[in-house]
Amino acid sequence: MLNRRTFLKNGMLTGAALGTGILTPQLLLAQASKSDVYETTAGPLSVHPVSHASLVLNTPGAVIYIDPVGGAEKYAALPAADLIMITHEHGDHLSTDTLAALLGDQTQLVTNPAVLAQLPAEFKERAQAIGNGDSTTVGDISIDAIGAYNLTEDRLKYHPKGRDNGYVMGINGKRVYIAGDTEAVPEMRALQAIDIAFVPMNNPYTMEVDQAADGVLEFAPKVVYPYHHKGSDIDVFEALVNKGGKDIKVLQRAWYG
Ligand SMILES: [Zn+2]
Repeated sequence: MLNRRTFLKNGMLTGAALGTGILTPQLLLAQASKSDVYETTAGPLSVHPVSHASLVLNTPGAVIYIDPVGGAEKYAALPAADLIMITHEHGDHLSTDTLAALLGDQTQLVTNPAVLAQLPAEFKERAQAIGNGDSTTVGDISIDAIGAYNLTEDRLKYHPKGRDNGYVMGINGKRVYIAGDTEAVPEMRALQAIDIAFVPMNNPYTMEVDQAADGVLEFAPKVVYPYHHKGSDIDVFEALVNKGGKDIKVLQRAWYG
């Protein structure tokens, strides 16, 4: 039995791991879809960026899809979803057609209340809505809904306060924050002990890279993925975060092909 820890350094798949020639299915999957693997108390958690705001977390207890859109074929190489989480109703986060194709018999849904109200009746049976500040659990995963909204006057129309969710998930000892579409709101800045964060940056819908970096430096996750960043210079974001000197690892991934 190989010790998986020898393959993981700082939570990342290392070149040494790939050079051993001994790959578990999890590691093979990680390679195939260019994911990152983190060690939890119950086994590996792999992060699979899909595109823009869509991602998959393959955790020891459940496969979690976040804001899946773009058709089921985008997910063909990934394991089926046990849990699908939706942050809000915009088309780059919610697609009922994609949901219909991805929902298995046992798949559960967690959404914000506004999305739940828009779902077809047959989806509602397996869905639960939580509002900003509320929490729930699915299996061994804890979920807190974090406010996601605009602060800047001329952007308030996109994401009004109180409607949309970000999520903090507790997954076997790791805390993962999916910000959703938001600016660097106080609820983000106040987060504690986040291991892995996904933070948006694009105008006019969310925020500029400097506001994103400022927010990230305040809650100081161990690792941050800039996502939902079409048109933004994420090299500038990375440089600003690094300049803050808080030992936050910025991971740029291929969200746009
Ligand atoms: Zn969006």
